Amino acid sequence: MEEFEEFTQAQKLRNVRYDVRGPIAEEAARLEQAGHRITKLNIGNMAPFGFEAPDSILVDMIKNLPTAQGYSDSKGIYSARTAVAQYYQTKGMKDADVEDVILGNGVSELITMTLQALINPGDEILIPAPDYPLWTGITALCQGTPVHYICDEYNHWWPDPEEIESKITSRTKALVLINPNNPTGAVYPREILEAMVDICRRHDIMLLADEIYEKITYDGAEMINACTLSDDVFTITFSGLSKTWRVAGFRSGWMYISGPKHRAKNYLEGLSLMSNLRMCPNVPAQHAIQTALGGYQSIDEFIYPGGRLYEQRNVAYKLLADIEGVQVEQMDGAMYLFPRLDPEIYPIENDEAFVIELLRQQKILVSHGRAFNWVDDQHFRLVALPAVEELEEAIAGIADFLAGYRDA
Ligand code: PLP
Repeated sequence: MEEFEEFTQAQKLRNVRYDVRGPIAEEAARLEQAGHRITKLNIGNMAPFGFEAPDSILVDMIKNLPTAQGYSDSKGIYSARTAVAQYYQTKGMKDADVEDVILGNGVSELITMTLQALINPGDEILIPAPDYPLWTGITALCQGTPVHYICDEYNHWWPDPEEIESKITSRTKALVLINPNNPTGAVYPREILEAMVDICRRHDIMLLADEIYEKITYDGAEMINACTLSDDVFTITFSGLSKTWRVAGFRSGWMYISGPKHRAKNYLEGLSLMSNLRMCPNVPAQHAIQTALGGYQSIDEFIYPGGRLYEQRNVAYKLLADIEGVQVEQMDGAMYLFPRLDPEIYPIENDEAFVIELLRQQKILVSHGRAFNWVDDQHFRLVALPAVEELEEAIAGIADFLAGYRDA
């Protein structure tokens, strides 16, 4: 038989990772196929845990389906883009205009477009560690260099502006900010945000603010949109419907561009080109945006005392903190905890193997810290989305597993 060479993936994929959906998820799928029920505390997917979308959004989409059959303008439908611009006007961005808004198939697509339009091989992007790993993955895909600044778990998981600044070089193109943060649940205070904006100002780099969890904060933690802190720093703000409005499957998000756009004409042309290349975002889902932003903010029912997210967060924190050798910072926003396992008690060599073992023994799926580009093997991320009873059961399973590890 004739020998053929194997079809191989492009070299640019060599450094691209997205381990949240990697081997751990594959092992979970294998166990499910073998008939096991897995408790999934690994992905911030709200609907399967009973956090359903407000009816108004569904009605809006259904009503608009007949007129949503064709492509839309590649940046998105006018009514939705206007609604996004008006939303940022209410935040104090009085010049926000429809032309400053591009809609996307989720924030994920917009992150991809933004970085593809920006990065030349070898350019550096400052990204938090731990991070939402798409930022690092797409930077690598674009043959850029992700440079991680370390968020401090002994200081609420906040970044240290001095450390960020020390990592700036002549190749640095942008500073990524994720606030509220996935995977740590941190919400950044004004001083730190102002310092980050100032770093961008002084080093003439752009600020990329991923604020998809902006409406999910607890106990009065103040969420400040980074774009409101300056009018002289070129800023792109990302948000969307996946979390606050619980419709991750609709794939609907937006980006809002602010600051000195006259200095970014060429880059903005690149972004328009990227927008044209993908034709347009999913049109039915765009119709939900206006109602989402302007309608009843149903997320509030979940985040105040007595609300599901609030109560689950408290239970998850308390039960984790009670386990010997587990140190955990309570989240101020989003829906994730990123506990540390004391290395004296749990000397973990490979955190991915560790969570796979937890999965095999307890049928509980969490994500390992390195999947978020964290720097050691002592962390995992837990998604506090299951109802209290299921969470209690799952964390008891984690505690059992850790007790076994200690005794081994
Ligand atoms: N940014 C952050 C910080 C996230 O946590 C997520 C999803 O988990 C996304 C972006 C992607 O969101 P989307 O569903 O809009 O693509």
